[in-house]
Amino acid sequence: MSFWCEVYVDRINHNINKVKELVGDKKIIGVIKANAYGLGRDNIANHIKDKVDILAVGELKDAENIIDKDVLLLSPLSQKEVFLNPKENLILTLDNEEALDYINKEKEYRVHIYVDTGMNRMGIKPQRLDSFIEKIEGNFKNIKIEGIYTHLHKCHDVEQTLVQIKLFRKFTEKYKEKVEYLHCLASSGILNSKLREAAKFTTAVRAGNIMYGYIGLADGFKKSYDYYAKVDATYKVKAGETIGYGALYKAKSDMTIGIIPVGNIHGLGVAREIRKSFFYDVFRAAVRSFKERPIIFNNGRAVEVIGKPNMNVTIINFNGSNVEDKFKLEMSPIISDGLIECKYINGEK
Ligand SMILES: *Cc1c(COP(=O)(O)O)cnc(C)c1O
Repeated sequence: MSFWCEVYVDRINHNINKVKELVGDKKIIGVIKANAYGLGRDNIANHIKDKVDILAVGELKDAENIIDKDVLLLSPLSQKEVFLNPKENLILTLDNEEALDYINKEKEYRVHIYVDTGMNRMGIKPQRLDSFIEKIEGNFKNIKIEGIYTHLHKCHDVEQTLVQIKLFRKFTEKYKEKVEYLHCLASSGILNSKLREAAKFTTAVRAGNIMYGYIGLADGFKKSYDYYAKVDATYKVKAGETIGYGALYKAKSDMTIGIIPVGNIHGLGVAREIRKSFFYDVFRAAVRSFKERPIIFNNGRAVEVIGKPNMNVTIINFNGSNVEDKFKLEMSPIISDGLIECKYINGEK
């Protein structure tokens, strides 16, 4: 194995405890969508299932292996097959009024209702919530409403987000006794004291990023993963020769280069810019900035990347390194969906 991810399970525990400190007795929804943000869905699910109240996934297939824990499907109900055979531990998100047309009256459904407070991606309009709930209660005794939620899409704009929370509160607080889960805060909201204060009336939070320590490091959350690789090969280059695509690099003296089997496809060179939520912006920002920022380390020493990371390999300056060395890679796990082997490490590192 020359490329792997080490996942520090105790740090995930630590992060969950930190969330609990911040939000008090609210329920915690542990988000494991997108292969648990790249860290291995089933392993992470097993690990956190006793530490959170329910899990949340992005797609139906992500819930398949989860049998002994309730799991909320966050995505819109475009996949009609979810209505055919709802598993007992599956909680659907009712995100539009038409979804009721697919309900099979012979089956039992557990749902959270998603209210659109401004993200405009999906959802029931707040003004329609009461009549929607009335309709369900009147006509669908087989649907159990267990939660109501919304998503805050622009948390760095606190003023705007406070308006959003207020809107959510206005239309949902009255259901607090009726539904167990009333939730709007995700990671960035959990981190912001004003937003936490405004969301006091809610009874649950959804934690993704923050649980894995992708964000919140300044607030005591811990990064729960590191990527490592060893070189697959080394290669000698003479002074004056150029190396790699575009001949962008010219050896100043005789040198040895190393080939690391990690590249763009694994997410190397793709940093995570916390405040941006769209991957593509992130990618562009990263491509611009990673030239200046070291992304590969050997025992704490920054290693020179030669040219840019390629699609599946990266060339490094191997002077001063050894074939047995373990190179640490600064990279985002977000897009590394299932490609990378993860080792789960218990105990403090
Ligand atoms: C992904 C997602 C989350 C988790 O967000 P984080 O910022 O990673 O905590 C919460 N809610 C919804 C609806 C999501 O899609």
